[in-house]
Amino acid sequence: METKHVKKDGEHVWNAFKQMKSYMEKSYLLLDQATPENYFVTANRRQVYDGVSTLLNSNLGHKHPRIQQAILEQLQRLDTASMFVSTNTAALNYAKQLLKATEDRYYSIFYTNSGSEACDTAIKIARKYWKNRGENRPGIISLEGSYHGSSIGAMMVAYGGYAMDDYALKHDYFYQIPVPDPLLHPEFGDETALVQHCLNVAQTLMRDDQACVGALIIEQVQLSNAAFALPQEFVIGLEKLCRANGVLLIVDEVATGFGRTGSLFGSEQIGVWGDLMMFAKGVTSGYIPMGGVLSTKDVFMTFWADNPESALEHGFTTGGHPVACAAASACLELLQTEQICAIAAQTGAYLREQLQALKAFSFVREVRGKGLMLALILDETIKIPGMEQWGVANIVSRFLVNKGILLYPDSDSTIIIAPALNVGKSECDMICAALRDCLEKIALLTER
Ligand code: PLP
Repeated sequence: METKHVKKDGEHVWNAFKQMKSYMEKSYLLLDQATPENYFVTANRRQVYDGVSTLLNSNLGHKHPRIQQAILEQLQRLDTASMFVSTNTAALNYAKQLLKATEDRYYSIFYTNSGSEACDTAIKIARKYWKNRGENRPGIISLEGSYHGSSIGAMMVAYGGYAMDDYALKHDYFYQIPVPDPLLHPEFGDETALVQHCLNVAQTLMRDDQACVGALIIEQVQLSNAAFALPQEFVIGLEKLCRANGVLLIVDEVATGFGRTGSLFGSEQIGVWGDLMMFAKGVTSGYIPMGGVLSTKDVFMTFWADNPESALEHGFTTGGHPVACAAASACLELLQTEQICAIAAQTGAYLREQLQALKAFSFVREVRGKGLMLALILDETIKIPGMEQWGVANIVSRFLVNKGILLYPDSDSTIIIAPALNVGKSECDMICAALRDCLEKIALLTER
């Protein structure tokens, strides 16, 4: 269907997290096609290189023939099904394949359509787990700097960002503890002391009878906190506290999963796996919406009984959709047979090194992240004459789009760089050259 669009038509589609007025005025982007070389083609026929894998989900790049073929074959076999009515072979095949990939640490999958739904699912499983065990432990701890989605449940465990009063939300039994991020806590010069401080806060909460803590949710690399990788001692310390206090550990692998940080799951790198693991984004390489929660056998078995009251009252019409599961199977097979995670780790190290060179600009504060989940942090106080109301990250991103490269400004000062896991060094060089060009212009304009 070929239709002509004028800019005003863009108002008919409400974009995520956007003040629509300024989005339409300043950063409206209308995509029409993608190419196998990972370019988007805009409605006015401009090519823009996808340097952020759509939103860290098209991990295997665009238009992969193997994934497309799996989707088409499944459409011809069983085009739709619902977990309210039945299980389906594609969902079962994928479950077995994914559980094996986690070396059978997990036993069962609850399928969702997104990461936010996975978050709500994990919260509900955790709370009902304790109910089924006859204990009152609704309290959930999350981390400063975290983002787990935008549904009401996910908002309860997110850090900042949300005006909770605007949505009449109260933080009952939801708690937040600090993370040992030196940029958030410059008052602690010493990382060891900062880690210990954060662990102490967690321990105090877990031991507080009034808090009734039953679960802790973490992301091992916090995408929305400028790709802050939690220090190993902190993650290990949190796991120990969970085990010592009988608290369930929920690991959010929505962004870190499926090779993004250089291994199939971020959990592999520190060796800390949760009782529940959330996934979404890269699971189908973004081709079809899908997410889910992996559960250990211990957790699953607390729901296994003859009485209907102990069931999980939860589900999504299209969760476990056979076409999504077929796409996911093809993606996992590709990740494993083509050693894509190891390649991503190597290319990520190369890209990071190139980005580090940009620290020569006085207003580039930090480069951080893991694998191919990287963030460039700019000085948030920098203002470009004539564009003072804009955060510097938005200006850089706009400039790059005009140069033919799409990155993601995640805050006023942070730019996320996360190309497809099979990105070549020449594309990494192209991204860095465009960034350098833009930063040189900013240096001239601001005399920095
Ligand atoms: N968890 C993490 C770590 C995320 O980065 C995101 C999305 O960016 C989500 C959860 C929510 O996923 P979705 O946007 O699919 O609901």
